[in-house]
Amino acid sequence: MSETKIDTYFHNPFEKTTCKKCGHRFDSLKPTCPKCKEESDHPRANPLNEVTFAHPIIELLLSMWAVYSIVRGIISYLTPTNPNVEPATPEQLMFSNYLIYGILFIVLVAIASLSLPKLLKSFTKTDCLWGILVCFAIFAFDIVWGNISSALGATTNENQGSVNKIVEVNLPLAILFLSIIGPMCEELTYRVGVFNFTRRVNRIFGYVVSVFIFGFIHMHDYGNPNEWLSFPSYAFAGLALAYAYEKWGLGASFIAHFLVNFLAVLSSYYL
Ligand SMILES: [Zn+2]
Repeated sequence: MSETKIDTYFHNPFEKTTCKKCGHRFDSLKPTCPKCKEESDHPRANPLNEVTFAHPIIELLLSMWAVYSIVRGIISYLTPTNPNVEPATPEQLMFSNYLIYGILFIVLVAIASLSLPKLLKSFTKTDCLWGILVCFAIFAFDIVWGNISSALGATTNENQGSVNKIVEVNLPLAILFLSIIGPMCEELTYRVGVFNFTRRVNRIFGYVVSVFIFGFIHMHDYGNPNEWLSFPSYAFAGLALAYAYEKWGLGASFIAHFLVNFLAVLSSYYL
């Protein structure tokens, strides 16, 4: 089983394989035929795929929020900011953030609903506890990069800035939305959606695309050098979360993402 050799090729993300026993056509990544349970002999078939991949159409639909976020970022970069507009109060920031995450959560869960039971299976395995280690890796990178970027003159990134303001308003709501609902929305969009769909094409391509997109969507102004200094932190988090997802499933990437945000919310409130 040489994974690297297989992945020098680009694949059709909708590629199917034919069951040698019953002739049923199914997703080439599936380890067994969904009709007769015969084992697939396709080189990319893998038992772990059963709990990490969704249907390619579901993955594509889950990726839409990522596409929207990038387009919105580019539009706001191209539109001059109006200096006469009052900056949002922390309450307004909180309301708009939580409203978006609440609606997004319902929409994403509805889209993923058919695949959710198998994706959630990863939570019942002890493997998902590797997410704790991934969280520490993300913090370790943050500390190292934080020192380098402040030496380069970086100040708080806009994303972190609005988190700090929101947390002050109501801590329990901040924990619920910023460390549970928000990370679940992002795992569904960036790992189940973007990473899965692009790694169907090619594994390395999947890592590159999902890591860059995860970095970009956490920058609020592409024209601001300070925002670019925070890019490596988010890109590393995107890489670590994609690796956790690929190796141990949604349980591990969610636990890592939850812990990172939960500890960030607590430190923003108490420090
Ligand atoms: Zn079959």
